[in-house]
Formats: sequence, structure tokens, C-alpha cells
Amino acid sequence: MDSVDELRPPDRLLMGPGPSETHPRVLRAFGTPPIGHLDPAFVEMMDETQALLRDALMTDNEWTIPVSGTGSAAMEAAIGNLVEPGETALVPGNGYFGGRMAEMIRRAGGEPVTIETPWGEPIDPEDVREACAEHQPSVVGIVHAETSTGVLQPEMSEITDAAHEHGALVVADCVTSLGGVEFRMDEWDVDAAYSGGQKCLSCPPGASPLSVNDEAMGKILERDEPARSWYLDLSLLDEYWGDERAYHHTAPINNVYALREALRLVHEEGLSARWDRHERFSAALQEGLWALGLDPVVAPSARLPSLTTARLPGGLTPGGVVETMRESHDIEIATGLGAFADEAVRIGCMGHGARRGPVLEVLGALGETLVEHGIEVDPGVGVAAAVEELRTRR
Ligand SMILES: *Cc1c(COP(=O)(O)O)cnc(C)c1O
Repeated sequence: MDSVDELRPPDRLLMGPGPSETHPRVLRAFGTPPIGHLDPAFVEMMDETQALLRDALMTDNEWTIPVSGTGSAAMEAAIGNLVEPGETALVPGNGYFGGRMAEMIRRAGGEPVTIETPWGEPIDPEDVREACAEHQPSVVGIVHAETSTGVLQPEMSEITDAAHEHGALVVADCVTSLGGVEFRMDEWDVDAAYSGGQKCLSCPPGASPLSVNDEAMGKILERDEPARSWYLDLSLLDEYWGDERAYHHTAPINNVYALREALRLVHEEGLSARWDRHERFSAALQEGLWALGLDPVVAPSARLPSLTTARLPGGLTPGGVVETMRESHDIEIATGLGAFADEAVRIGCMGHGARRGPVLEVLGALGETLVEHGIEVDPGVGVAAAVEELRTRR
């Protein structure tokens, strides 16, 4: 073959549904030479990473680890261990990731039942209560931040109450909320929660938070048959991340370095300051979008700060707009998914991207892009509206 050029990816601003902008300190940590995964110095970093993860998730769960792999690996670890063959599990039907939960439940040998809810709306706790009474599930899945629709699930405690009244364990997807949007694992009585590094934590993808409480871990340790995935079997991973520190598989050392640094950043900034920052800059982003003539898909009461779904003006289809943003402006945003695939764009405001510079850059480029696509709008009104929102907010 011909020689291959030196690695030189385009210089994109990542403002889509993930991966998000990586923090320079996280990148530096990622580029640190690896040491052995059983080296006492690494074991100490494992402990620190676990402690930082508990802080970020607001949990005391002993069983809190980074799973090797992206968010979907942590998701499959949660579902594949908690759902036993023949068991019923409820999943939300209001977005793409509830559908992925259902598929994972099927592969674990379980039977998914979907709580039907229109895309773009949150799940009603009453529907969970009724479905639990009817189907007697052993597990209830809930997506706290639906990246496919831009819905933030409010009333998480009411969902967990409904599930617990019927003896079901709750698995929460906080991939697009952890480190960006309020998530309180213990206070909300969530039994298992998983997340990812590449959304509000601003890490490269590859090591993904998972936390399991005693009750959920008890169920996992008492399974009749082992989890179907050897790699993600939490009873085996316990030997590495627990007290024994025995070899199971080689941890992705550099991803753990990066996650540790990202969580250090969360700790330095403070969780609630971080939630406020995401709120503030997403409000500016959203005001800018509405000023440019885009329409919100989600009602204000369930609108997610870290990801905004918006319909385009003038019947524009998202594909061309996303392409122009990438090719002419080096900015990544995304088209809608599923029900919104042909009508909406998805714009992230996550982690290191939830700042003034990136938000104004997106709005400026989007204004120009709309004009290029024949929309009659002053391309600067988005930036102006965002600046005004930031100026009057604080
Ligand atoms: C991104 C995402 C996932 C999957 O994470 P990957 O890192 O893509 O594997 C799961 N759930 C939600 C809500 C997500 O946004």
C-alpha cells in the first residue's frame, strides 16, 4: 500500500450529542505514559477515581467503578447483570436509549415491556406505577437525560418510589447528565446508575461510570446463572475493583487517567456550580436558537440543558444544515433521531463546551448557515440574543 499520512484530524468544535469538547487537562492526563494496571501506584489512582466518582454521582455506594468501554458498555454491564433470564423489565418508550435498553434486556434473556410515551415528553410516574402493577417487573429502566430528544426526566424520586412499591430495582441512565445536570443517586433512591465520559465530563470515550447499591449488588451476586458477558460480569470485576485487586482484564489505563482528571475538574468547580454553568450557557444557546427562528421540540419543564433539540425554520431538513456547519464552519452538531430525524437538529452544551466562546461560535455559524440555505434572517441575531441572555441573567 501507499504510505499513510501523519494523523491530522480536522479541527472541529464538538457541539453535538457527544463526544463533547475535551478539556486540555484531561487530554494531558490521557497522554501520560501508562503504568501497569496492578502497580500499587495505579491501584491508588483506582481508589481516588472511585472516590471522585462517588462524589460526582452523590452516592456512598461501595460498588462504584469505571467500566472499560464507552457508555454503552456501562449500560450493558448494568442491564446484563441485573436482568436474569425470564425476568421482566420496564423500559421508557420516549426515546432512542430506552429502545437500546430493551434490546440489551432481550439479549440478557429478559423480557422488556415498554412504557409508551411520545418522543419529546418525559415519563409519567403514574404510568410506571400502573405498568409495575400489571407486569411485576424485577427491573425498571429510566433515562434521566434522553440525548435523542433533549428531554430531562423530572420527578426521578417519584419514578423510583413507584418501582420500589412493587419491589423492582431502578437502573438510571445518566450518561448526558452526570457532571452537567443535577443527578442525586442516593437521595433519589436509584439502585444502579451508569454514565459515560464523553458527554458532560468532557473526556475521550473509553471508561464509563457505573454505580450499584448493596441491594442491586446482592441480586447480582445471587444470580442463578452467571451474567452472559464474561467481560462485563460484575461479580468477576469485583475481584479487580474490590479489595482483592486480582487480574480480570487490563484496565484502559489512560482512560482511567483521563476520567480521574475530569472528575478532579468536577470536584474543583463544585457540582452545583457546574450544574449552574450548564444551565446558564444552555439558556443562552436556546435564546439564540429561538431568535434565529428555530422552534423548541421539548416543553420548558422537561428541557435538558446539556442537549437541545430544535426544529429548523422554513421546512429546512437537518442533514444539509449539519453538513454546512461541519464543512464551512468546522462545527459538529447533529440531526435529530427517530421521530425527529427529518425535522430537528440536536446541539450539545456539555462540559468544556458549556462556555461562552463555543456557544456564541455555534450561534454565529448557524446564523450564516441558515442564510446560506435560503432562510431570511439576520445571521447575527442568535449571538445577540445569547449575549443579552448572559448579560441579564447575572
Ligand atoms: C451517548 C449515550 C449512551 C451511550 O454511550 P456511548 O458512549 O455512545 O456508548 C447511552 N445513553 C445515553 C442517554 C447517551 O446519550
